[in-house]
Amino acid sequence: MEETDCTACELHKTRQKIVWGSGPNNPKFLFIGQAPGKSENMAGRPFVGRSGHLLDRLLRKLEIPKDCVYLTNVLKCYPPDDAAPTRDQIEACWPHLERQMRALNCRRIVAVGGTAMVTLARYLGFVMPKNGIIRSAGQWLQHNDTYVFGIIHPAFALRNEEERWNLEYQLKKMWRTAALLEG
Ligand code: SF4
Repeated sequence: MEETDCTACELHKTRQKIVWGSGPNNPKFLFIGQAPGKSENMAGRPFVGRSGHLLDRLLRKLEIPKDCVYLTNVLKCYPPDDAAPTRDQIEACWPHLERQMRALNCRRIVAVGGTAMVTLARYLGFVMPKNGIIRSAGQWLQHNDTYVFGIIHPAFALRNEEERWNLEYQLKKMWRTAALLEG
């Protein structure tokens, strides 16, 4: 599923390692974040920095088995200084994510943060509720036979206690309600 190289956008010039993703070949959930951070850029694996540790801790606490989760990002290369992905970068990288989604054939997608949610809505063609990202977080949105659940990005939740609780609440809700989805 992973390719060996990509030079489709300028981020290939500054990255250390491409961060394709990690997890099982038949995941129950596909978590999609924004982009690799510094730690991920060095390690070549997603969610290994502080955000990843928080996510790991919450998954353990909620008894969500890590081996049913595949982790990846909208962008596969580190944007220097953790810059927000540009539209051109997302456009260039989308074919990689699209291929991953096809190969993993996972119908339950967790959009980790606003960039992932907006990107999925734009490219998959589903409509988010009015008030967009905030309203759509914490609920399953259906698009054909695929369901997308938005959560706060753990990097944002690291900033304050209240957002950490919100993230935990959203993950708990995602886990409890996933079993009720069709398909
Ligand atoms: S961010 Fe995506 S499109 Fe850009 S170089 Fe990396 S893999 Fe290729």
